[in-house]
Amino acid sequence: MEPTIKKEDLLEKDEKYLWHGMKRYNPSSTMISTKADGIWITDIDGNKFLDAQAGLWCVNVGYGRDELADVCAQQLKEMPYYPLTQSHIPGIKLSEKLNEWLGDDYVIFYSNSGSEANETAFKIARQYYQQTDAPNRYKFISRYRSYHGSTLATLAAGGQNQRAYKYEPLASGFVHITPPDCYRSPFTHENEQCCHQAADELDRTITWEIKETIAGFIMEPIITGGGILVPHDSYMKKVREICDKHGVLLIADEVINGFGRTGKPFGFMHYDVKPDIITMAKGLTSGYMPLAATAVKRDIYEKFKTSTKEYDHFRHVNTFGGSPAACAVAIRNLEIMEEEHLVTNAANLGEYLLAELQELYTHPNVGDIRGKGLLAGIELVKDKQTKEPIDETIAAGVVNYCRKRGIIIGKTSDTVAGYNNIITMSPPLSISRDEINYLVTILKDAIAAI
Ligand code: PMP
Repeated sequence: MEPTIKKEDLLEKDEKYLWHGMKRYNPSSTMISTKADGIWITDIDGNKFLDAQAGLWCVNVGYGRDELADVCAQQLKEMPYYPLTQSHIPGIKLSEKLNEWLGDDYVIFYSNSGSEANETAFKIARQYYQQTDAPNRYKFISRYRSYHGSTLATLAAGGQNQRAYKYEPLASGFVHITPPDCYRSPFTHENEQCCHQAADELDRTITWEIKETIAGFIMEPIITGGGILVPHDSYMKKVREICDKHGVLLIADEVINGFGRTGKPFGFMHYDVKPDIITMAKGLTSGYMPLAATAVKRDIYEKFKTSTKEYDHFRHVNTFGGSPAACAVAIRNLEIMEEEHLVTNAANLGEYLLAELQELYTHPNVGDIRGKGLLAGIELVKDKQTKEPIDETIAAGVVNYCRKRGIIIGKTSDTVAGYNNIITMSPPLSISRDEINYLVTILKDAIAAI
């Protein structure tokens, strides 16, 4: 569709009326997108960009899926809204489908965003323990560099204090430990040992904090926004054992990891563990509608369901969470992933992408290249020996160079204190081999230009 208003006028109105998060106002860097198809975005000037970030890590099936628009419209006409304090057919069907994807027995609570899904998880965990014989378990442990959302409790859970300190006081009861960053481990640099030592810190912290006060440990199986930290295969299993030993619930934040991003339906599935609570959003609808979910193991849910005590039911409601149209879109979105084998595509093409990136190790400023599935990160350093992070402006220069050549990639933000030097990629899972080749060619030019 041709723009009816001039770009300059739109930018003027954008500056006047629209508050963009996470960046200073800069009209020259504001892209007004008008169309999108496959993995390509078109801006108001008609320029095309390969979106290797899938929006905000979420457009898993790619853009331009008319059928998602169609099921949404059909559902809106048929039954646009009714709350899930009662029930509706798309909500029931999606919950059944999510159980198929999860491969186990979970009960689903819906909301609209990843932040709310995590908040819901915290509330469920606290209330669950209140209603057992361990009512003092209210604290949560998480890792530095992690991100779990923008609300006062999820900011407290996150390990990026630069995002949070202006909003103090946050929700209380959150404790942080070291993430399994094997490139920069404060422990050893052996991948397996580093991860075991990071997990041991969880064990010690639970003991030091008094285990009878700890409700849960929240983690992304692979830390994403904090710099694509892929742990050793044994890390999450060890975490699961430690949680079991101390009676702590394991909450997997699958907001980005989930729905094929890492080459499996969910990130935790790489590690032979079952979390107690799983939170999801983004890829659940591929960003076509706002929808998030908190999946809870049945035995936890039963504690709420079977109690006859007053106030023992879950005292939490969400007006728009699990709206019928969003659920209908999510169902079709998951069917598309199944029909087009997009999870397998992510696994295969993710391996290909990582292999193609290896050549970059010859560059003096490329310290580490890591990823799983269609999640990849390149850590830029001043010096490979000292591993001192490269200046933020240079990492930003790589991103800007790519943008000028028609590729959208990301980088860790200045909220990942000290580590805003990591280039990140998470393209739609529908990306082709040719598109990966194009992405890698331009990225190599960008890094060569440092
Ligand atoms: N958890 C993780 C791992 C995320 O990356 C995000 C968002 N980037 C969230 C939670 C919060 O999701 P939302 O922005 O939808 O609230």
